[in-house]
Amino acid sequence: MSSSNEWQVDIIDAVQKCVYCGYCAVCPTFRELKWETYHPRGILDQIKMYFLETTKEELKGDVSKSLFDSIFACTMCKACENICIADIPLLKIWEQIRQESFKRGRWNPALLSLYNKVKDTQNIFGLPKDERVSWADLANMVMTKRIQRKASLAYFVGCQASYSGKMEGVAASVVKILRKTRVDFTILGDEEWCCGSPVFLAGGYSVGKSFAKHNLDQFKKLGVKRIVTACAGCYRAFKIVYPRILGDKWDLEVLHISELVAELLEQNKLKYKKTIKEKITFKDPCELVRHCGLIEPPREIIEKIPGVRYEELPSNCEEALCCGGGGLLKLNDADLVRQINTRLIEEIEYSEAEIVVNGCPTCLDTIQQGVKKKGLDVEVIDIAELVRRAIGE
Ligand code: SF4
Ligand code: SF4
Repeated sequence: MSSSNEWQVDIIDAVQKCVYCGYCAVCPTFRELKWETYHPRGILDQIKMYFLETTKEELKGDVSKSLFDSIFACTMCKACENICIADIPLLKIWEQIRQESFKRGRWNPALLSLYNKVKDTQNIFGLPKDERVSWADLANMVMTKRIQRKASLAYFVGCQASYSGKMEGVAASVVKILRKTRVDFTILGDEEWCCGSPVFLAGGYSVGKSFAKHNLDQFKKLGVKRIVTACAGCYRAFKIVYPRILGDKWDLEVLHISELVAELLEQNKLKYKKTIKEKITFKDPCELVRHCGLIEPPREIIEKIPGVRYEELPSNCEEALCCGGGGLLKLNDADLVRQINTRLIEEIEYSEAEIVVNGCPTCLDTIQQGVKKKGLDVEVIDIAELVRRAIGE
């Protein structure tokens, strides 16, 4: 397979490193579907067949049907790569196969529709640019002075918190926290473009790259040195993908809101004023914990809340269960999302937590749906919303 962008791995070399140990059976998709074709090592086998053993174009079609089906049944949770004893860069391989599927015109219509929406409108909802800050109206907040202001800190809101009514409390909470500390900050407003995460995940590399360049230009124009976000997908894009594609030009510090709050508490710039008595647990989003290694800050800031009773989920930190919502699986197989999610909801029920805290809009939505379906009396909120309560805003 030819190398067409900066970070691609030599796929043929990589797939041949597999020693068939089977440890990657931790894969949430394989655990549900149980067919070897969905096992990460089984996907590698199909890749070998596709690139090495199937020379005739018409046979390639048969192999690719099963391969592309398996690759889009993946949530990109990274559990396979983190456990792989042969250090195979599985996620990069999965991304490349998704690109191959795009090149061959094999995306399903829902995926193609999302891709076109993001490409044409720079957001995942296909909504007008000038509605990007409408979350502020819903929250009765005036943000005009913050938009495109020169400041060293930028809050990158992200498509979901910007446009989704379900997430409007997240953006409002981050702004309440920042205002409380009197730290100067800016938002990009209608010049904030999607971080590119959905198109990178889908395999649309060139569009994602143009978004990365645009966002970098905007940050530079405003003198931004640090970016804070409450979205695990944006955080991963800024931490992992942007440095790959922008190289040294991407020299900004990137913080998840939990890291910034931990820092502000430490510096006494932020103080908790309220007691929260409910039992709380934290669900590690895959993109924070396995992709970016973010473990301590969310726990640290939850445990400092007066009166808090904190309980870990049975599977946590690097072993956290996937919620099922990642990797654009919702567009490919919503039933499989629900199936994967069921295991996590059972763990939440077992923990007897009254509040489940999270740091990713995709997880938040998926867990909220799972909890509702199971009929649990559990509140599911973002970590910024919890902090907002604890500071009494
Ligand atoms: S990233 Fe997650 S869902 Fe995808 S193959 Fe690996 S373990 Fe399975
Ligand atoms: S863990 Fe790695 S080496 Fe072992 S079967 Fe899976 S992909 Fe192959």
